Amino acid sequence: MLNQRTIAKKISVTGIGIHSGKKVTLNLNPAPADFGIQFKRTDLEGAEILVATAEKVGTTENNTTLGNGANSVHTVEHLLSVLYGIGINNVYCEIDGPEVPIMDGSGASFVFLLKETGVANLNKSKKFLVVLKTIKVEVGDKWVKIEPSSRLVIDSTIVFAHPLIKTQRKIFEFSCENFIEEISRARTFGLLRDVDHLKQKGLIKGGSLDNAVVLDDYKVLNPEGLRFADELIRHKILDTIGDISLLGYEIAGKITTYKSGHNLHNLLCRKLLQEEGAYEIVSSNALDRHILQTFELPQSLSPSFY
Ligand SMILES: [Zn+2]
Repeated sequence: MLNQRTIAKKISVTGIGIHSGKKVTLNLNPAPADFGIQFKRTDLEGAEILVATAEKVGTTENNTTLGNGANSVHTVEHLLSVLYGIGINNVYCEIDGPEVPIMDGSGASFVFLLKETGVANLNKSKKFLVVLKTIKVEVGDKWVKIEPSSRLVIDSTIVFAHPLIKTQRKIFEFSCENFIEEISRARTFGLLRDVDHLKQKGLIKGGSLDNAVVLDDYKVLNPEGLRFADELIRHKILDTIGDISLLGYEIAGKITTYKSGHNLHNLLCRKLLQEEGAYEIVSSNALDRHILQTFELPQSLSPSFY
């Protein structure tokens, strides 16, 4: 049996939101099996809990937001991606502001925190969403597709009219170890020419070279350069994993994305969940041992029993 996971103890992290620019404290608490990932705004009296599911997503402009109106939590995607990447299914997140801290713009800080807190196995089997039918969503020339595959594979392409980016494609075969090594450290990115426009819309108030890769028309402006030559496409995969983790299960399917963003990822999840016979939910016991092995964790994260 491959067990559901939570974190071994409560942990607290403080940082700023990239869009709001506001300081927030996020507490991650252990949670029981089948709890899922839930968020609670502790700064709003009596705020309803927001369960991290695709149907609870409000806006998807430049980030993925859970909830609507005042009771919402923005920019959940990097945290959710890391939780999925480490196979953590159950966490109760308390947050005293409107946005998950951006940290360094990647998932690296959350991986580091989870190494500190430790991972714990719960005495219940993980559940997998096995894709049975191909589902595609298109908006203009952008599209995403999910199709049957024994394990999670993401084949991602981005296209930017920029000499350093142009077209980048990466095929990522999911395992916790590959996620930590290849994906978790890739930072969010933006083009300098879009910055003014986004600031006018009240976005990226907290954005800086400390939490994003920024490119002018020719080069990367960050003095330290890129962490990987193809850091940007790796970040797209980080975002994709965070967004599709909102399906609420481990995923056995292949996802192909072309110029996608949070909106398309969410539309894909919703369409898949609504389509009759497009998927089935199975216990980890029903799956091949090789698939389960992809959830093995490196020594630094190896789980204790809760
Ligand atoms: Zn991102």
